[in-house]
Formats: sequence, C-alpha cells, structure tokens
Amino acid sequence: DPRLKSISDAIRVVPHFPKPGIMFQDITTLLLDHKAFKNTVDIFVDRYKDMNISVVAGVEARGFMFGTPIALAIGAKFVPLRKPKKLPGDVISEAYELEYGNDRLEMHVGAVNLGERALIIDDLVATGGTLSASIKLLERAGAEVVECACVIGLPEVKTDQSDLLRKLDLCRVES
Ligand code: IMP
Repeated sequence: DPRLKSISDAIRVVPHFPKPGIMFQDITTLLLDHKAFKNTVDIFVDRYKDMNISVVAGVEARGFMFGTPIALAIGAKFVPLRKPKKLPGDVISEAYELEYGNDRLEMHVGAVNLGERALIIDDLVATGGTLSASIKLLERAGAEVVECACVIGLPEVKTDQSDLLRKLDLCRVES
C-alpha cells in the first residue's frame, strides 16, 4: 500500500523516553501531518467499513485519537476504555500487568449491548497486555470482538489473542 510509507515517515522515534533504553514511538508528529493522519484513518476505514461493526473501542489516550475518526467514518459508536477513576458512571474494570507493576482499564456499564460487533483501536501494541485486557472488558459486556488494530506493531507481540490482531506494522523499530 503506497500510503504506508507516508505514515511510517511521519512517526517520530524518540530514544530514551520516558526512560533510558526505550525507543518511544511518537505519533504526535503523525497527527501534525494531515495527509499521513488521513491515510492512517483511511486504511482502517477501508478494512472495517463493511464488517458490520457497531462499536469502536479506543484505549486511553492515543487510541481515542485514531478510534474516534474511524468510528465516525464507519458509522459506529465510540466507547472509551479509560484509566482508573476517570469515568463518572458505573464501570466494569479489568486489571493487566505492565513491565513494572499493574494497571487497569475501565468501561461504562451499558456502553455496549449484548452481541454487538466491536473493533478495538490503540496506537501501538508491544506485549499485547493492554489489548488482552481490552478484549476481556468488551467480551464481559457481551460484545463480540471482531478484531483489534494498532497503527504500530512492535515485533515482540506475545498475546494469546494474536489471531485477533491486525497490525499495520508502520513503525521503524530501532534496536
Ligand atoms: P502493551 O500492553 O505491552 O502491548 O503496550 C501497549 C501500550 O503501551 C499502548 O497503550 C501504547 O499506547 C503504550 N506504549 C508502549 N510503548 C509505546 C511507545 O513507544 N509509544 C507510544 N505508546 C507506547
């Protein structure tokens, strides 16, 4: 796909952020580039527009930036999966492990109806822990997770849900 290069080129890699040794994939430079941002959204929309998806769930915070335009374009609702204590209503929550410690994602009760077909969007997948927790949240609410999709895929994906994962592999991973 000729659009991929413009997207890859627009992602900035910041060495040693937020900690020494980490090559941070920065999508804010992609958001500054209208053509590359539009290409990114269009690639997802091309894939998902005819898959009868009624829910796009975005992972806080960068999943919101890609998930909302995709939801609008494919005619789905948008559901934010948020960090703890951000949502004002009743929530269900799912804990997951990070490299150092734990975190949790929450979703509003009633945001998703039984049997709805859902797509989960984030900017980047590394271990797959965040997406696995997201899948569990949606499934506990009775949704059917059709696929998860990220802009950037790092090679060390180790999720047992990898069959659900569509990576666009747009990043340049440097070692
Ligand atoms: P995982 O749970 O190990 O797959 O990590 C994915 C989560 O970490 C996503 O929510 C990403 O937004 C975040 N993340 C990890 N590394 C980076 C990075 O280099 N750039 C942007 N986000 C990152």
